[in-house]
Amino acid sequence: MKAIRVHEFGEPEVMRLEEVSEPRPGAGQVLVQVHAVGVNPVETYIRAGAYAAAPPLPYTPGTDAGGVVAAVGPGVKRVAPGDRVYTSYTLSGSYAEKTLCLESQVHPLPPQVSFAQGAGVNVPYAAAYRALFQRAKATPGEVVLVHGASGGVGVAATQLGRAAGLTVIGTAGTDSGRRLAAEQGAHHVLDHYAPEHLQKIMELTENRGVDVILEMLANVNLGRDLEVLASGGRVVVIGSRGPVTIDPRLTIPREANILGMYIWGATDKEAMSLHAALGAGLANGTLKPAVGRELPLAEAARAHHEIMETKAFGKIILIP
Ligand code: NAP
Repeated sequence: MKAIRVHEFGEPEVMRLEEVSEPRPGAGQVLVQVHAVGVNPVETYIRAGAYAAAPPLPYTPGTDAGGVVAAVGPGVKRVAPGDRVYTSYTLSGSYAEKTLCLESQVHPLPPQVSFAQGAGVNVPYAAAYRALFQRAKATPGEVVLVHGASGGVGVAATQLGRAAGLTVIGTAGTDSGRRLAAEQGAHHVLDHYAPEHLQKIMELTENRGVDVILEMLANVNLGRDLEVLASGGRVVVIGSRGPVTIDPRLTIPREANILGMYIWGATDKEAMSLHAALGAGLANGTLKPAVGRELPLAEAARAHHEIMETKAFGKIILIP
């Protein structure tokens, strides 16, 4: 079978499509025929050698795929060959024609959800769900600012927030991104590059501020985020690409909380709970991953350039 292999850390071009032997599922393992692969920013950090938990070389990147169970090992009970699934992590990497998973890493994909959408579930929706409900403990009626609503996590957070009865303010850097945020359910849409967008948030909330901020670029925004937090507000740092200066005094009158979020920090119970919630949302149609671009698996390097260098518009998907 074909798979992307990385033999040295470096630029996107270190990823090459190669012929590798097909994995065979052992006890408790599931082999998935991959129909679509989800590309996430973290895979670029790992490939560049800039990530603390780097895998040993050589490796096949990726954790997220939509596909069909090809074979199961002894003892597997929850899925059978032919089942449509999405993956949440894999043992052998998802940038491949087939990927080996633990039974706990495959989840049912309802028939109305395409394989490309299935490939867009795991990292973005787990991050959005964990940030909103397991870290910020958002409750219906609260106001959430999705600071970066045009990408994978932002679209997921907008759909999850809307379905849970939150008022969603979403931001994006382009007209197409703002249209996407509105289509995904954001009640209000703003441009995060417009200097006055935070003032507009105060107007939209009648000067109360927002209860929760999901922050995709904390190194740019965290200092100013604190100015638009309501009393008891929570900022969840999802993405950050450098340091930032904040005025801690802003947290005092609001009794504000700044929370980190790490999807790999979820306990087994929390992971089970969030995938149960995502499965319900996919089945009832409230969660629909937005596929922005599809590229052939052989163009993984182009996908890594695009996810870091172009403006976001839903998910970038690779097709084996
Ligand atoms: P993505 O699809 O590339 O989207 C990036 C988002 O950031 C877009 O909405 C983009 O908007 C927005 N953005 C760009 N400049 C911004 C600014 N100045 N202010 C606010 N938002 C801005 O990436 P993703 O998959 O959604 O992931 C988002 C971030 O979360 C990444 O840094 C990723 O590494 C991180 N992440 C962390 C975890 C974790 O466990 N902590 C899990 C998943 C993802 P425009 O392009 O429209 O400007």
